[in-house]
Amino acid sequence: MRENRVGWLGGVVIDTNDGRMVFDPAATRSMEHDAHIFISHAHSDHTLGFQSSIMKYSTKETKRIFEKLRGKTVRNWRPVEYGQRIRIGDTEILPLNAGHMLGSAQFKVVTSDHTYVYTGDLNCVNTLTTEAAEVPKCDTLIIEATYGDPSFIFPRRERTYARIVNWALQEVKDGHMPTFHVYSSGKSQEIVRLFNVYTKLPVVCASIVNRANEAYNEAGIDLSFVEADTMEGKTLLRKGNCVYVTTRRTNSSVPHHASEAMATGWAVRFGSRSYASFPLSSHAGFDQLIKYVAKTDARRVYVFTGYGELISKHLRKELKVEADPLPLFSQRSILDY
Ligand SMILES: [Zn+2]
Repeated sequence: MRENRVGWLGGVVIDTNDGRMVFDPAATRSMEHDAHIFISHAHSDHTLGFQSSIMKYSTKETKRIFEKLRGKTVRNWRPVEYGQRIRIGDTEILPLNAGHMLGSAQFKVVTSDHTYVYTGDLNCVNTLTTEAAEVPKCDTLIIEATYGDPSFIFPRRERTYARIVNWALQEVKDGHMPTFHVYSSGKSQEIVRLFNVYTKLPVVCASIVNRANEAYNEAGIDLSFVEADTMEGKTLLRKGNCVYVTTRRTNSSVPHHASEAMATGWAVRFGSRSYASFPLSSHAGFDQLIKYVAKTDARRVYVFTGYGELISKHLRKELKVEADPLPLFSQRSILDY
């Protein structure tokens, strides 16, 4: 009997004969208690499910980063590992590296008659802290397409790394302190590692960034940094002969000699007058998304996030696959694949 259905219901839902699988839920209030929640990575727009009482699955790194940043303990949780299948009834779930940040996962769901892949944020190139995403084969692909617009083509990462380092060294020479406003987890650690590997500049991190750094160090990604709240950190920040890594929300605490920068894929299109901006993305660009979809051999693709319509059109035209924005999951729009 084929009863597998996909759609959006407070998260990405795949209904199987073995129950409802929900990926990265953004709402959990009305969720069935026998559902299973899968969390792809530790960014806050994906981790609401950790607060649910329902059974949850993620890599141990994702849970660890979440607990460090939120100061909360996750209960009713089971760890998953890349390449290690788990079974729920007759349904098999295989977690795979998504390349987006430490612990980030895609999930391949294999039922008796169909193979799905769910991927949240995805990055298809190696970075200083992550390996490129794996590309699983499937029948139906459900994919988040943050940069699903043809204008988002990113330069080679090594080139962006070089630009960032050269800019920072020049700023220090000119008496300014290079200051990066980036996400506390993922991008921050890549920036720390970048300066550790290519310069001798000390890297000072805001306390929220330190907490994520610790989770990376525990996982064997060696980061050397100074905490902003320590005596050493305060001295370095006062003198300015260091790199400062902080989040977007703490502009008021930035010293007057700071020279501020952003490192984000959005920099390809939206520059800033007051900040230096570098197109360092933890997501696949448009060209990489298309390549990834092609390699999965999926005949059916559902896309979610802002550029769903646009990239669906490209996928239909270029790859001749069925592609649409992920529909709302309701009695009227239940999909049977
Ligand atoms: Zn993310």
